[in-house]
Amino acid sequence: MMPHTLALVLLVIASPTTSTFASTQDSPAQAASPTIPDNRPSYNSNTTAGDTKHFDPAAATQAWLDSVPSNQREKSDAYFEGGYWLILWNFLLTGAICVFLLESRLSARLRDFSEGVTNIRNLQIACYAVPYLLLFYALSFPLNLYENFFREHQYGMATQSFAPWFREQLLGLSLTLVGGTFLVVVLYAVFRRAPRTWWIWGTIVMIIFSATLVLIAPVYIEPLFNTYKPLSDPKIRDRILAMARANEIPVKQVFEVDASRQTTRVSANVSGLLGTTRVALNDNLLKQCTVPEIRAVMAHEMGHYVLDHGAKLLTYLGILMLIGFALTRILFNAAVKRWGKRWHVRDIADPAGLPLLALIFSILLFFATPILNTVVRVTEREADAFGINTSREPDGMAQVALKLGVYRKLNPNPLEEFIFFDHPSGRGRIRMAMDWKAENLP
Ligand SMILES: [Zn+2]
Repeated sequence: MMPHTLALVLLVIASPTTSTFASTQDSPAQAASPTIPDNRPSYNSNTTAGDTKHFDPAAATQAWLDSVPSNQREKSDAYFEGGYWLILWNFLLTGAICVFLLESRLSARLRDFSEGVTNIRNLQIACYAVPYLLLFYALSFPLNLYENFFREHQYGMATQSFAPWFREQLLGLSLTLVGGTFLVVVLYAVFRRAPRTWWIWGTIVMIIFSATLVLIAPVYIEPLFNTYKPLSDPKIRDRILAMARANEIPVKQVFEVDASRQTTRVSANVSGLLGTTRVALNDNLLKQCTVPEIRAVMAHEMGHYVLDHGAKLLTYLGILMLIGFALTRILFNAAVKRWGKRWHVRDIADPAGLPLLALIFSILLFFATPILNTVVRVTEREADAFGINTSREPDGMAQVALKLGVYRKLNPNPLEEFIFFDHPSGRGRIRMAMDWKAENLP
C-alpha cells in the first residue's frame, strides 16, 4: 500500500500499482524463484480408489508444506515479517510528520497563507490542501522509496527500473492531489456547516467518495498503470469462461492484465462496483501456473464477484469509519482544548487542524489493524470456500497457496494470523483444500 499522504485519504486512495481497497488483490509468486520442486505429495486428482480410505488431510497438508525448501521458506518469512515492522515505521513516520507540521506551526502558516490568497472558503481549503499533500508526500518519500522500490528489488519481486517506477509515483501523486484535494474541500464544507454532527455527515461523505472511487477505478484509474484486455489463450479462456457462465458472471468482465510491467508476482483481482465490476488475472499467473491452478485462483476471484464482496466490504468499512469518526471527534476536541493555542488551531472547521485529524486517524487505523485485516480475511475465506467448490481443484489450490507463500508467511501462529493476515495463511488454505479433497475422493 502506498504510504500515507494523509491518513484520511489513505483509507480510500489506493496504491497506483495495486487496486483500490474494495478490490481484492490476491496471490503472488515469484517468477525468478525456482519455486517448489516437483516431488510433490502424490495426491493428484487421479488418485486411485485405494487411497480413499487412507487420505489424511492433516498429513497431506504437512506434506505440501514440507515440499518447500527451508531456504525459500526463510526468505519468504523474512519478507512478510518485515512487513509487520513496516506497519509500525509507517505509523511512526506519519505521526512524526503530523506532529512536526503542528509544532512548527507550519500548518498554521499554510492556513494564514491560504486565507491571504482568497476570500472564497472552498478555495482557501484547496490552497491549503495542495501544498499539504505535496509536503506529506515529500517527507514520507524516503520510506516509500525503501518499501516500494528497494525492498521489492531486494526480494526479487520488482521488474521496473527507477525511471518508470518514479513516473508511476508521480502519476499516483497527481491522482492523490486531485482526489485528495477534492475530498478535503468537501469534508471542510461539512465541518463548517455541522460543527457538532460533522462526524456523521463526514462518514457519509467518505462512503460516497470511496464507493465512487471503487466504481470508477477499473474505467479511469487502473488503465493509467496497466493494460487490460480480454483473455487471449483459448485453452485457458474457454475453461475460465465456462466457470464464469456457470456462475452467471458476464464473460465480458473477465480480463488479463500486464502486471509483469511492475512485478513478478502471480496475482488476480476483482475491482469495481455494480456495472464496472470485473475479474482480472495477471500475465504472471498465466505464464507460471498450470490450468488447475489458474482455475482455482479464478474460481476464488469469481467468489468475490458472486458473493458481492465489494459492496459488503464497503458496508463493513463504512460502519468502522463511523466509529472512527466518532472517536476522532472526541480526541480532536480534547487535543484542541489542550494544545490549540500553541498550534494556532481554532476548531474543526480550521484547515490548520488537518495534520491533527490525520494524526488521530492514523493512530486509530494503527490500532484497528487486526480488525481491518480480520474483516478482509473473513471475506477471503468465503471466496476460498466458493473457489474450491466451483473449481473442484484441491491440488491446484494447494499448489497456488504454496506459490503465494513466496511473499506471504506459510505457517504463522494463530495470533500472528489474526493480527497481520488479510488472507488466510498458506497452511489454512491448503488444509481447506485437503479437507475438501478428503470428502470428495472418487
Ligand atoms: Zn481474494
